[in-house]
Amino acid sequence: MAKVAINLSTGSIQQEEIIVGIDLGTTNSLVAYIHPETRQPHAINDLDRGTIVPSVVHFPAGGDTPIVGTDAKQYLLTDPQNTIYSVKRLLGKSYKDLGNHATELGYRVIDDNSEGLVKIRVGEKFYSPIELSAEILKELRSRAEHALKTPVNKAVITVPAYFNDSQRQATRDAGRLAGLEVLRIVNEPTAAALAYGIGLSPDEEKTVAVYDLGGGTFDVSILRIQQGIFEVLSTNGDTYLGGDDLDRAIYDYWAAEYQLSAVLFQNPSRQQELRLLAEEAKKQLSQQDSLEFDFHGTQLPLSKAKFNSLVGPLVERTIVSCRQALTDAKLTPTDLDAVLLVGGSTRVPLVYDSVSAFFKQPANSSLNPDEVVALGAAIQADILGGNRRDVLLLDVTPLTLGIETLGGLMDPIIARNSKIPTKAGRQYTTSVDGQVNLKISVYQGERDLVSENRKLAEFDLRGIPAMPAGLPKVDVNFILNADGILKVEAIELRSGTSQAVEIKPQYGLTDDQVEKMLMDSLTFAREDVAARMVIEARTVAEQMLYQVERFVEKNHQHLTEEEITLTAAATQNLREALEAKDKDTILKAVDELEALTSPYAERVMNISIKQAMAGKKIE
Ligand code: ADP
Ligand code: MG
Repeated sequence: MAKVAINLSTGSIQQEEIIVGIDLGTTNSLVAYIHPETRQPHAINDLDRGTIVPSVVHFPAGGDTPIVGTDAKQYLLTDPQNTIYSVKRLLGKSYKDLGNHATELGYRVIDDNSEGLVKIRVGEKFYSPIELSAEILKELRSRAEHALKTPVNKAVITVPAYFNDSQRQATRDAGRLAGLEVLRIVNEPTAAALAYGIGLSPDEEKTVAVYDLGGGTFDVSILRIQQGIFEVLSTNGDTYLGGDDLDRAIYDYWAAEYQLSAVLFQNPSRQQELRLLAEEAKKQLSQQDSLEFDFHGTQLPLSKAKFNSLVGPLVERTIVSCRQALTDAKLTPTDLDAVLLVGGSTRVPLVYDSVSAFFKQPANSSLNPDEVVALGAAIQADILGGNRRDVLLLDVTPLTLGIETLGGLMDPIIARNSKIPTKAGRQYTTSVDGQVNLKISVYQGERDLVSENRKLAEFDLRGIPAMPAGLPKVDVNFILNADGILKVEAIELRSGTSQAVEIKPQYGLTDDQVEKMLMDSLTFAREDVAARMVIEARTVAEQMLYQVERFVEKNHQHLTEEEITLTAAATQNLREALEAKDKDTILKAVDELEALTSPYAERVMNISIKQAMAGKKIE
């Protein structure tokens, strides 16, 4: 039953909108929601198929409408070319990113454009991983609508903590394509912690490890939870290690031990069958000590002890990752308040035992490891829906804040998604001799060029004592308080002269505008990097020209005619290179000028040092 709310200002009756939480997994996906009466999270159950939706999309021959989930899974056996699994691995990736792994999938990944995002070919059609993920999300959405008997338009979707911006954006786009407004992308380990009730009270401080062994991937994250803020201290793992590898270990053992190679050779459907049997054996051994299967007349036994010895090395690899994650977080096992187990493969007793032994405490596996991420996503959705006023929402700054540096480049000082309040700063100096004023321009945005970002403020730091370029030390500090007010202060350290302004960065920006700024930064990332490289090369060149000309002017008497003529030619060459606006041409001319001038610069330095020494009376 959905709750009904009355809008007091208009008097209209509104159905309170359900926001679902979605675990979009590599192997399996789930959708969960908070039950309006019990206030407890529940994974949405399809009566005859359970809560798990295998992340598999099958395109029936000739048909455009795909089949998703349990019904699609059987076609992995019979029609692998038209049956797409593990599409999450391809999200936000180019063919080049995939490397050798592109050919290991049973379906066709297209490599026509190795720089662009991958496409998957099914029959005569091409699909992006975003479109295929959207099919899985549509299935989850319709399951939720069916079970809750209400339209579902909003969702929180989880992603691995190590997902980069492009993978997160792709996940968001998939949601949109499935007709869902994605209110937030949440890290899977954060969702798992929420499901275990960690981080729900504002005064709570905890450090936890989340160990997630799924079907094809493994990751471990160390989280620090403080005042409702979830911080990922470190993550580690292996994106090609999971339950499938445990299955393969059994498969290989059986195939070798019971001479199945002949039966399996060039018989893909027998191979798949044996693989499924291996998975079944693995699952049963989570409950019992031994079993025996019949495979076309051959008896295939397996004991738990044998299984443990087969998969031991794989489990050990996950422990190596755990050790690294702890080291990176600069922690020891006793610093952890809890170790949470996530992912179907953590049901393997050897996994539980090894993880508990390594972290020197019993791992927590009281929640269903298949569901825990989706349950946590539902809790996060509930918080965003404003139904848990007791929970402090983590506040982060949505866009990067920084200042303009030479050549119109953006120098980021507070990165986007930094939690607030926060403080950061950097030291700058002057670029011209005798410079007494420094202009500080404050910008907001993700682009490399300030001209593409949003200007927030500008002020002059005056009264810098006249000194050679590069000597003054100007500290610029950004202080962003809990209300999102930014204070920028600049102070010249020798003279103590200082200046400050206060700005409200988000003022006048709608969510859509923030989103557009983020989207643009992705769209233009390549151009921006190219532009930045040219500007950086130009800045180096201009500084070099300035230094060399000044040097020649001052030290005329110590240089030969030839040195002066050659230097003049090389500086002229660099000026022309600057016109060309090509990074490599500019840097080449810089190198030439440098090679020419450094020997005599060194010689002249020696002369002046000698003179200085000679001037000193030692006695
Ligand atoms: P993902 O998050 O990668 O989508 P899941 O967390 O759903 O994956 O984990 C799927 C894996 O869990 C599969 O390899 C499956 O065989 C394994 N699994 C499920 N149940 C059990 C069990 N009882 N014992 C061992 N492994 C299991
Ligand atoms: Mg998972």
